[in-house]
Amino acid sequence: SPPQRSTPALFSLANRVALVTGGHRGIGLEVALGFAEAGAVVYCLDLPSSPDESWRTVQSWAASLPEPNTGRLEYVSGDVTDQKAMWEVVEKIVEKEGRIDVCMANAGILHKADCLEYPAEDFKRVMDVNVAGVLFTAQAAGRQMERLGISGSIIMTASMSGSITNPNQHSIAYNTSKSALLQMARSMACELAPKGIRVNTISPGLIYTDMTRSFLDTQPGLKEKMSAQNPMGRFGRPDELRGAALWLASDGATFCTGSDIKVDGGQCAW
Ligand code: NAD
Repeated sequence: SPPQRSTPALFSLANRVALVTGGHRGIGLEVALGFAEAGAVVYCLDLPSSPDESWRTVQSWAASLPEPNTGRLEYVSGDVTDQKAMWEVVEKIVEKEGRIDVCMANAGILHKADCLEYPAEDFKRVMDVNVAGVLFTAQAAGRQMERLGISGSIIMTASMSGSITNPNQHSIAYNTSKSALLQMARSMACELAPKGIRVNTISPGLIYTDMTRSFLDTQPGLKEKMSAQNPMGRFGRPDELRGAALWLASDGATFCTGSDIKVDGGQCAW
């Protein structure tokens, strides 16, 4: 069993290396910040595109981390649906940093359409990113953790939509993908436990990010309606995912694998 340490030491990620996909904005970016603040070197991977304003804000924030914090953020581009490329990205990180301890497979997409009309191409694309892409990310990190004998932590961003449904959602592919992801994580957790690698999921509720803004801000009255759908009566902020992710990444969660942590304002409990 792991050595017992003080509580702050349990939650420290000093000298750890992490990868966060979908890490240039939204939940991924906030979690990456949390990991870096806890001392980790964090590689933020996202689709190749010019860094937007939020990334620049992060860079200036990262430059102001108080010494002697060992944490920093690195920008890396890639597509999680490209298995070979993902394996290579993590190989390169390990070549440079010598290790990989934490992997947050967080990249995901949402496409809305009525279930009876849902276009085949969109269905395949959502499954490709949200299921296969998460698997390829987890493989890329897990292979290196196994090779190096590292008791790493793999975290996947699922969704409450993998567990509950809502008649107004019109997101059959998304809900199906997140449900598949929950079972994928449990299966990987059981297979990788003997190697000391933990696999867990976080299921966020409704979080106000670019993904949800795209429909919340365009349909009048929808914000009010949807924020009333959980007992706390509001949306979550992306930074409210930091705590759960940090705990799962840290030595505070060494006996936790195959679990799903809901961060949903109580919506699944309602
Ligand atoms: P977001 O759209 O703000 O960020 C997602 C990021 O993933 C984007 O930067 C995007 O470029 C990236 N991405 C998409 N496809 C990719 C690919 N093929 N390769 C690499 N990167 C890719 O969304 P968010 O709200 O921050 O969502 C993050 C995760 O949380 C997603 O998996 C999402 O399904 C999940 N989630 C979000 C909510 C919510 O309410 N926002 C709720 C539950 C779950």
